Amino acid sequence: MSKIRLKARSLAGRKRLLLPLLFLTVALGSCSGGGGGGDDGGFSQADYSLLYQLNAIQLSGHTIRWASLPIRVTSSVEGTPADYNRWNTATGGAVSFSFGAGGSVTVGWSNSTAWCGVTSISWTSSGTFTSARVLIARNQSGCSGGASNTNTHEAGHVVGFLGHTSSGMMAPTGGPNITDAESRFVRLLYSLAPGTDITGNLRVREGNGKNTFDASGSRRYSMTIY
Ligand SMILES: [Zn+2]
Repeated sequence: MSKIRLKARSLAGRKRLLLPLLFLTVALGSCSGGGGGGDDGGFSQADYSLLYQLNAIQLSGHTIRWASLPIRVTSSVEGTPADYNRWNTATGGAVSFSFGAGGSVTVGWSNSTAWCGVTSISWTSSGTFTSARVLIARNQSGCSGGASNTNTHEAGHVVGFLGHTSSGMMAPTGGPNITDAESRFVRLLYSLAPGTDITGNLRVREGNGKNTFDASGSRRYSMTIY
């Protein structure tokens, strides 16, 4: 996870996700009818904004998620089912996991001391995750909550957090609890089909100008995040 170790380590080892510089552009949301309320199916504009910033921004405003549930996980890290199922519990079952051989998500140990955990995840240009590889550092000194918390944080990246929140489980320093905003992020993401354009639900659109979405799904993208 990106929980940065408190111990002094070489800067090179303290890898963090380098978010692309975001250019703020103002785009008027397509206000519907009587002036556009904040809610849509129980989700607020703030929920859509977070979903955009930490997920859909990677695909020109289209959501990225696993196409089907449960998400299949193959892990050699003990405790993984409990660590992952914290997301199941916190979201009222909006995401679910199965554990066994042949999963699209693999979780294993690493001897690295440069980070607490790391996730490499790939998706198609139509908004579907295809695979994820998670490594958890054996040495969890300086990582808040230890391996279990790190595993839950990385599971959040697997589910769809392609960035970090300001507080909660998906904060850069991680945990200890999944916040209500983080729960709503996941519930909103999995209430929408993969590749859903959410830009109409945004008041302010922060974009990098590149068009990365492609309904045919012919392109692949990936990210490594800690
Ligand atoms: Zn992280």
